[in-house]
Amino acid sequence: MKTMGKFGRYGGCYVSELLMPVLRKVEKAFLEFKDDRGFKAELSGLLKNFAGRPTPLTELKNLSCEIGCRLVLKREDLLHGGAHKTNNVIGQALLAKRMGRTELIAETGAGQHGAATAMAGALFKIPVKIFMGEKDIERQASNVQRMKLFGAEIIAVSSGSKSLKDAINEALRYFTARSATAYYLFGTVAGPHPFPSIVAHFQQIIGEEARYQCLERFGKLPHTVCACIGGGSNAIGIFRAFLKDKKVRLVGAEAGGLGLRSGKHGAALCRGRPGSLHGSFSYCLQDFDGQIQEAHSISAGLDYPGVGPEHSALKDAGSAQYVAVTDRKALAAFFRLSKTEGIIPALESAHALAAAFDMAKELKSDDIMLVNLSGRGDKDLDHIMSSPNHHA
Ligand SMILES: *Cc1c(COP(=O)(O)O)cnc(C)c1O
Repeated sequence: MKTMGKFGRYGGCYVSELLMPVLRKVEKAFLEFKDDRGFKAELSGLLKNFAGRPTPLTELKNLSCEIGCRLVLKREDLLHGGAHKTNNVIGQALLAKRMGRTELIAETGAGQHGAATAMAGALFKIPVKIFMGEKDIERQASNVQRMKLFGAEIIAVSSGSKSLKDAINEALRYFTARSATAYYLFGTVAGPHPFPSIVAHFQQIIGEEARYQCLERFGKLPHTVCACIGGGSNAIGIFRAFLKDKKVRLVGAEAGGLGLRSGKHGAALCRGRPGSLHGSFSYCLQDFDGQIQEAHSISAGLDYPGVGPEHSALKDAGSAQYVAVTDRKALAAFFRLSKTEGIIPALESAHALAAAFDMAKELKSDDIMLVNLSGRGDKDLDHIMSSPNHHA
C-alpha cells in the first residue's frame, strides 16, 4: 500500500488497527488478480454473456434537434440488472471467489447495490448478507424483495439514523470480526482504500467502450461527458477514459435536492467541504462543527453525504467540473427523455441529463454531448407517479 490510495490530498485508509490488515489483504489480492490472464478472461466472459456488454451508444435524434447539439447516451440502463452496478459486483464477487471467501457482505441504502450484490452471490453461489437501515427497509420494499428472491439475508440496522451511513459502519464492523471468511463488496468509489481504486477499476470499462465507440461511430471525441454522482462510481467509470483528452469537458451532476436554501440537498462537492467519512478524506456535507449532515435527494441512489476521493482531486485540479441539479430539474429531464425518445431514465441518471440540457447551448450543432445513462427508471415509477406534484 505504497500510496495508501491517495488521490492528491484525498482518500487514504483511516480505519481501526484491526481493520487495516483486513483491507491490506483485499488490496494484495486485487493487485495480484486484476491483471491475471485467467481472471480477466473469466470477468470479460461474464460481462459479455451474463451482463450483456458492450452496451450501445444511442444518438437521440429528436432531442438533439430540440437542444441544438448531438446528444448521445451510453446505455448502462441496458446492462443486466438495470444499471452500471453490475460491472462492480461481478468484478468484486470474482475477486472474493479467487480469495476463497465464503460469504459476501454489502451495505445498501436505496437497495440497488444490495440487489446487485445478491444477484452476484446467486451467480457465484456465495451466501450474501446485506446490511440495511431499518428506515430504508421500509422505504425500499421492492428491492428488499429482489434481494430475498436471490437468496440473500437482510440484516436490519437500527443504530443512528437507521439508514445508509449506519449500514456502512455496521458492515465494516462485521467485516473486521469475520475477515477470514467474509468479503466486503463495497458499492461505490468511496470508503477506505482500496475500495475507491477497486470499484473504479471495474467501472472504467464504461468509458473505455464509450470512447472507442464514439471514435468509431462519429469519427471524433465528445465535446462534453456528463454523469451523475452519488458516491461517484458511474462517473469515474466514464471519466477515466477521457482524462488525457484535455479538450473533453467532464461534468458531474450532484443531487441539488430542493435547492441550496432549503437545507434539503446532497451535493458533497458543490456544497460540502473536505472532511473524514467512512475511513476516507474527501468532500462531504458537514455542519459548522464538522458533524456529517444527512443528504436529501428525490433519487435514493444519490443520497450519500460523501463522495469518492478521486472526484475531490479532480475538482481541485479543475480536471472535471461539478454542478448541483435540483429535484425539479431532474424530474423534468425524466419526463422529457421518456416522452421524446421512449427511454425511461433512472432518476439518478436524469440529473446528468438535466445538466446536459442546461449546457447544450454552449455547444455547436455538430458537437457531441455524451451522457452516461447509469440506469433505467422502471424502479422509480411508483415513487414518481405517487408524488403529488408530478407533471406528466
Ligand atoms: C447507485 C446508482 C447511482 C449512484 O452511484 P454512483 O456510485 O455515483 O454511480 C447512479 N445511478 C444509478 C442508476 C444507480 O443505481
